[in-house]
Amino acid sequence: MAYIVFDMEWNQPMCAAQPQKGKNGVKLSGEIMQIGAVCLSANGEIEASFSLCVKPHFYRRLNKRVRELTGITKEQLAAADAFPAVFAQFDAFCGEHPTLLTWGFDDVPILRQNLIAWGLGTEICEESYNLQTIFNTQTDGGKGQRSLAYALEHFGIVPELEAHDALHDAYHTALVAKNLDLAGGIAAYGGGSSGTLWEHPLSTDSFYPYPHKRAAFADEKLTRIVCPTCGAKLSTAKWVTKGGNFYVATASCPEHGDFIGRIKFSHASKETLSAVRSVYKGSKFASEHYAEVLEKSERRKDAFKVRMREQRKAKRQKKAAEAKAGEI
Ligand SMILES: [Zn+2]
Repeated sequence: MAYIVFDMEWNQPMCAAQPQKGKNGVKLSGEIMQIGAVCLSANGEIEASFSLCVKPHFYRRLNKRVRELTGITKEQLAAADAFPAVFAQFDAFCGEHPTLLTWGFDDVPILRQNLIAWGLGTEICEESYNLQTIFNTQTDGGKGQRSLAYALEHFGIVPELEAHDALHDAYHTALVAKNLDLAGGIAAYGGGSSGTLWEHPLSTDSFYPYPHKRAAFADEKLTRIVCPTCGAKLSTAKWVTKGGNFYVATASCPEHGDFIGRIKFSHASKETLSAVRSVYKGSKFASEHYAEVLEKSERRKDAFKVRMREQRKAKRQKKAAEAKAGEI
């Protein structure tokens, strides 16, 4: 059995305030503009590759941040085929009943959205696995979503190509996949493994604009998790940073059980931040994850305090020494 390792780049609404477009009852959080894929044989050989751009239809203006990140130009996209034609070629490349492998949880839902919006069947999405989960399970049992760069480094693979090109990313993902036991990982997949923590959000909401994170955390609409079942505002634990722009907090509804929320901040513009809050079903793994993140953040804070104290002490000693030297 062959595996299809794939990656996509997609275009998004120009800003968080712009309504999402779509069709057939689906809103597109991203319109696919490039598909890259590598066919990996059962024994880990790279057999073929695929790379095509897609002509934009729903979001015709290329989001500036996306353009900067991917280097894809509007000329490139204008010259490309529309999604149905590109997908037909991708579908042929994948063959019948492909096993899709991705790095992250985003690509398959985006592909599904795009297929539905175009009125196409979604059978291709039936069997897909996030390699982050298999990587975590087969390496250190970590709970976070590791970056592709982290996994490459873990296996001592030097990236040969630039990142943020769908084919390049798919190729690097395939190099990581070659180092994993794919058949074993797929067999064990979904057994409550920690990496699946962020797989199925029960609700996702956007909040914006905020001038800075402090203002965001003063906004109860953002910080109070709402029960995805009954809509009650839940008492929510402290939001703690996972480092960078991700924050997590737990909450529980007396009637509907435990939840874990995740906030991701991104720059809506140079001056403003937007926040996306997703809420997931709570679990033992989720509580463990939260406790771990909390402990780490406390440790970082303590270390910071110690550093500040030492700096102040060093300054005082320096001043005293200077004063003494002045006396002589
Ligand atoms: Zn509830």
